[in-house]
Amino acid sequence: MTATAPAPALPADDPWLNAQRQFDNAAQILNLSPGLRAVLREVRRELLVRFPVKMDNGSLRVFEGYRVQHNTTRGPAKGGIRFHPQTNLEEVKALSMWMTWKCALMNIPYGGAKGGVVVDPKELSHRELERLSRRFASEISMLIGPDSDIPAPDVNTNAEVMAWMMDTISMEAGYSIPAVVTGKPLDIGGSEGRPSATGRGVTITAIEICKRLDRDPNATTVAVQGFGNVGSVSAELMAERGFRICAVSDVSGGVYNPMGLHVHGLLNHRSATGGVAGFPGSRPVTNSELLELPVDILVPAALENQITARNAGRIQASVIIEGANGPTTPDADLILEQRGVVVVPDILANAGGVTVSYFEWVQDLQSFFWEEGEINKQLERILRRAFAQMCQQADLHHVSLRLGAYLVAVKRVADATAVRGIYP
Ligand code: NAD
Repeated sequence: MTATAPAPALPADDPWLNAQRQFDNAAQILNLSPGLRAVLREVRRELLVRFPVKMDNGSLRVFEGYRVQHNTTRGPAKGGIRFHPQTNLEEVKALSMWMTWKCALMNIPYGGAKGGVVVDPKELSHRELERLSRRFASEISMLIGPDSDIPAPDVNTNAEVMAWMMDTISMEAGYSIPAVVTGKPLDIGGSEGRPSATGRGVTITAIEICKRLDRDPNATTVAVQGFGNVGSVSAELMAERGFRICAVSDVSGGVYNPMGLHVHGLLNHRSATGGVAGFPGSRPVTNSELLELPVDILVPAALENQITARNAGRIQASVIIEGANGPTTPDADLILEQRGVVVVPDILANAGGVTVSYFEWVQDLQSFFWEEGEINKQLERILRRAFAQMCQQADLHHVSLRLGAYLVAVKRVADATAVRGIYP
């Protein structure tokens, strides 16, 4: 091995093995039959594509991408598409399984899917990004459709990318199909409230966990890792509800002020400089330092595997609200549980996004659009119901909130599989 070769990923950091391990814990308590376990612990379909994109200088580059459907028993597959240089098939498989449980926990009629392209979009021009998005949409078009599989934004993708994908699928069909993706701009069938939905869900979750733990949001300090769609909206809405946001970070680095950061100022600073680093009135912290700060609530809202067996013992927050998917490994979960740290799992905490995506799809199919107040009200109702069901199972079985959430979700998918029967 050369000195520059990357360190091999430890099995403990493999998101797919971790997702299967989380499922196995629930399957054990639910006493699922071996056959049902075998069905649910694998993905149903995985599509790997390699496709060329014309660069602005006339050269061709070949990119690799994936679309994975974990399960479609309860309805069409649903899940975001990420553009990231380190994404890979195992990560996308894990993310697709987490989507199945998330949709089932929310009790919305979807299965789970996810997609990804191995690319650093910051290295592409705007036109190159558009060509890549369109070609990828075309490459996976054999799987996607409003009745079969509905993509949405995820890391490094946004409403504009969704518009290109919707347009590509529509042009190939010869007519507009707005319901083929969610997270679109309002002009083409997007939903009010969708851009802020995941952060709003994190905030609703934070208020619910404070009620459960008898904690006052106005006396609660928060650190947020990741200041993208999920992290920045979470910080903004949590600050509006009285939480004190003391630290945030993104790829540019982190900033900390124990007295609290002005979130609107941070948003302006990010717009002006491209990141949160250097925000006036704060001191710099690294991303790993941010996770270990003396705050009450930690909101990881960046990527997987941020809280592992290596740092779980040093986390000072007493509550972790998983804005990101898979930020805590199962080994870390065990350490946190022993230390009495409450983890509100991703499949609940960040489910606001897919819930409002569901509202968007329903509105597109009906060509009838709701006002934002109605959307936020329905989102809160669905999230609070799922929160209560998760707590009820956790309390009943004396297990973590993650396992409580999995017990609700896995049982719903298992019951649906049993009642449909096995084809043929
Ligand atoms: P995004 O691209 O908008 O933002 C990601 C943020 O994380 C950026 O601020 C980036 O700088 C930061 N980041 C990346 N690597 C980092 C690192 N090592 N340390 C600190 N910060 C880092 O993506 P997003 O849509 O906000 O997604 C974030 C997480 O939330 C992902 O796990 C995603 O799957 C999950 N999620 C997103 C949605 C959604 O609606 N967008 C819904 C549910 C879950």
